[in-house]
Amino acid sequence: MNSIVETAKMVSVLENLSLKQKVLSRSSELLPSKLGELEHIVGEERDDVSSLVESIRAQEDSCNKVQTDIESLEVRQKEAGERLTSITNQREYQAALKEVEVIEGQLAQRKGQLTEDHERLEAMKTFLGTLNTRLEGHEKDFGERASKVETTLSSLQGDSDTLQKEIDDVLSKVPNEIQRSLNQLIVRDILPLTASALSNNVCSACRMSFPAQLIMTAVKENQLVQCPNCFRFLVPETTENK
Ligand SMILES: [Zn+2]
Repeated sequence: MNSIVETAKMVSVLENLSLKQKVLSRSSELLPSKLGELEHIVGEERDDVSSLVESIRAQEDSCNKVQTDIESLEVRQKEAGERLTSITNQREYQAALKEVEVIEGQLAQRKGQLTEDHERLEAMKTFLGTLNTRLEGHEKDFGERASKVETTLSSLQGDSDTLQKEIDDVLSKVPNEIQRSLNQLIVRDILPLTASALSNNVCSACRMSFPAQLIMTAVKENQLVQCPNCFRFLVPETTENK
């Protein structure tokens, strides 16, 4: 037969095990969230890289277009030059000369633009290299951390399984009449499981007062009773101080 003191001791063992279990489950929850932050950063960097790759493609298209313009202007320049040699009329000669000048002006403008576009393209490619290096570093970092988190999580799960067995074992030894209530308190995360029944008939956890009769009955019947408000098991001060 369990005395109230022995039961209180077992409840206190349960309390310690349950608190450890709570710490374990909290750690298991926090680990992946830290990993999530890094995953988010890696995702954003991947987006940066793909949008820059798109901009580079657009810039290459623009360079190709300007290059085509230049080629067709050069054909026109050659044709206009050839026409010049066959003109004898002074007025037509002046007009053709003017056309050549216009074409040359356009050519110079296009070539200048092409040089600028090429420079911009080179700068973009250099920046892409920087972004890719940074992304690779973070991806590697993420992979390493993910595998560490996985290892830690599985070891935490092992510890948690062991603790759960201990908790079940202790639970099976407490008197039947309080087993169910104790289990409910653990499941609902109401920790600690016990509270002192203060001498002025107040629960030390929730500060609610309870009828003096409650503790007297408990001591007389040699069993723990629950606080009517927070449902923790009330340990009479005299018992706890022994
Ligand atoms: Zn209470």
